[in-house]
Amino acid sequence: MSTDNHFLLAIDQGTSSSRAVVFDQSARVVSNAQQEFPQEYPQPGWVEHDPEAIWASVVAVTRKALEAAGSGRVAGIGITNQRETTLIWDRETGQCVHRAIVWQDRRTADFCQELKDDGHEKMVTDKTGLRIDPYFSASKIAWTLDHVEGVRKLAESGRLAFGTIDCFLLWRLTGGRVHATDATNASRTLLFNIHSQQWDPELLELFGVPDSLLPEVRDCADDFGVTDKSVIGAEIPVCGIAGDQQAALIGQAGFSPGMTKSTYGTGCFVIANSGRNAPISNHNLLTTVAYRLQGEVTYGLEGSIFVAGSAIQWLRDQLKIIQSAAESQAIAVSTGIVDHVHVVPAFAGLGAPYWDPNARGAILGLSRDSGINEIVTATLQAVAFQTRDLVNAMAEDGITPSIIRVDGGMVANDWFLQFLADILGLPVERPKNVESTVLGAAYLAGLQRGVYGSVDDISALWSSESVFSPAMEESRRESLYVGWQQAVNRVRSQT
Ligand code: ADP
Repeated sequence: MSTDNHFLLAIDQGTSSSRAVVFDQSARVVSNAQQEFPQEYPQPGWVEHDPEAIWASVVAVTRKALEAAGSGRVAGIGITNQRETTLIWDRETGQCVHRAIVWQDRRTADFCQELKDDGHEKMVTDKTGLRIDPYFSASKIAWTLDHVEGVRKLAESGRLAFGTIDCFLLWRLTGGRVHATDATNASRTLLFNIHSQQWDPELLELFGVPDSLLPEVRDCADDFGVTDKSVIGAEIPVCGIAGDQQAALIGQAGFSPGMTKSTYGTGCFVIANSGRNAPISNHNLLTTVAYRLQGEVTYGLEGSIFVAGSAIQWLRDQLKIIQSAAESQAIAVSTGIVDHVHVVPAFAGLGAPYWDPNARGAILGLSRDSGINEIVTATLQAVAFQTRDLVNAMAEDGITPSIIRVDGGMVANDWFLQFLADILGLPVERPKNVESTVLGAAYLAGLQRGVYGSVDDISALWSSESVFSPAMEESRRESLYVGWQQAVNRVRSQT
């Protein structure tokens, strides 16, 4: 590769905004552009995005970042995206038949419940590593086919295409020439057999999805075609794709079994690399494709916490007991670890390992001397305790995390990270570059273009900014955690 075009452009199409970042070969940011787009809530529990708003934002940020960096210097493009969000479009007109149904959308809850009541969950989990849940794409596709007039008929005639957001962007970026996705995004649809790495006829039949809708599934670092000049002003190969959480694992160089990344944004997503094995969880975790390179699949075990940074926003915006998220750190430093007060932020139920959608939040263990400081500190502690819940579940499923690499907005909080290390009894590493997701997409493109020879080159670029080592006595760690477990048991629903 000549040295004058070793820049890599990564597009990060997220739930609330689209970003484009150009990196140099050493993973330094050369240029960066970001744009938000509207969220649509047509009914309670429904969440949609206008595909044209997504597309316009992606084109705008991509053009801006390319112009600033010089498009001639960009060797390849990587895409990472909000996962599971579903689109169907007309291959002839290029128009979507409906707005994007976003991963958070619950409109298919009853349909999913029926499939579970009919006893299909085991078969689905065995093949996909997931659960039957509205979160994933399959029931969203089924809803579109059954509720938007004329769509099923058009689908059966082969005229329509389904895609997650990566696939839709790729199709548009290549001027409608390429209908493909990568194995990580495919693994979140509920239609893809993660063991055979094929769309699964039995799953397609269960959800009533014609196979003519489906994209080709390629490796994460692969040849995905070349951008159309009329679209972004340059012809550049698209050569990397991964869903956002998997891209973060790659950006964190989590390439060996046991390496675990935990992203603390609004919610928290943990993925542990499980190597060549696809463990089926007995603790409500998901098995997923972590990445697929040169035809070889690496699996991951995934768990999520619904409320992480948003609990800090709740302290600020609802309780109004802090002025800024950053203030939570100063308060925790002055208060110290709180032993008896527990905030269980189950505002939208409890995720893995409990899966209790009917649980609701509580503050427990208050005494006459408890005040704002204890509640703020206990809220930070709750995010760490929930991470421990996930890590324990992973260990019981056979994957013992060795290192936790963290990223996301909350990791600016040193006190939180030290408490996390103490409660996990594991070192917590914060990288110099906490933009793991977008970096992961760039790395994939760089692998395919030969900017990086192998994942070892990527590992060599990862550097630690701080390591938080566990310093708490074992007995204290365990008694704090038992207190948390008792608090969680108090809020779990009876049903
Ligand atoms: P997202 O990508 O989900 O929008 P970010 O990764 O930008 O989220 O992280 C923002 C979240 O991090 C917010 O919910 C905010 O409350 C939380 N946050 C930011 N700074 C701190 C801090 N110093 N301490 C605790 N939480 C913080």
